[in-house]
Amino acid sequence: APVVVAIDGPAGSGKSSVSKQVARRLGYGFLDTGAAYRALAWLALERGTDTSDSTSVVDVMGDFDYAISLDPDEHWVRVGETDVTHAIREPRVSEAVSGVARVPAVRQAVNVLFRSMVASSGRPGVVVEGRDITTVVAPDAPVRILLTAAPEVRAARRSAELSSQDAAAVAAALHKRDASDSTVVDFLTAAPGVEVVDSTHLDFDQTVDAVIGVIRT
Ligand code: C5P
Repeated sequence: APVVVAIDGPAGSGKSSVSKQVARRLGYGFLDTGAAYRALAWLALERGTDTSDSTSVVDVMGDFDYAISLDPDEHWVRVGETDVTHAIREPRVSEAVSGVARVPAVRQAVNVLFRSMVASSGRPGVVVEGRDITTVVAPDAPVRILLTAAPEVRAARRSAELSSQDAAAVAAALHKRDASDSTVVDFLTAAPGVEVVDSTHLDFDQTVDAVIGVIRT
């Protein structure tokens, strides 16, 4: 079975870009688990589903035909025949995603999907990135890391990513999503055995090096 490198952290911690680069350097696959929740939220919105109603969300999950690339050099996400790589990053999806992700039946179903994607990746290892990878999806992974950064740094990074004019609105949306998500899974404190990498004062390359350093110890 492929080696799992489990990385959790809040939005804007640099998790996704750092995990991808770590995967490249190690010749591993890369699995962004948040994309599955986003893709499900996208499908629910497409159908006009009330994402705050768990029964309706579970119905949507019933015909969720999901695929994602685990190749760090070739990123795509599909729902059925539709490429949703970019659509799932839209603010309307970010706003709806927490509601979808709090449904226990959804979490169980996507976790089954994640484990089978890792198992069939054909890679020596997979860097799996999310909120509950170190605790729920792969608690037995040989490497488990919590990537953190100060809230103001995370908001600044996210707003640069979105090339948004309104940094305050980005910070507010980020804070709202973190607050909602952290009632479902605790991704702000490290579980026993989980190594913390704080990227507040690190640039991208330094953060990648810090993560690789943890993997090699
Ligand atoms: O990582 P990203 O910000 O794209 O995740 C989108 C959303 O998916 C999070 O806000 C959270 O609600 C959910 N999520 C989760 N568990 C994970 C990954 C993401 O609940 N492992």
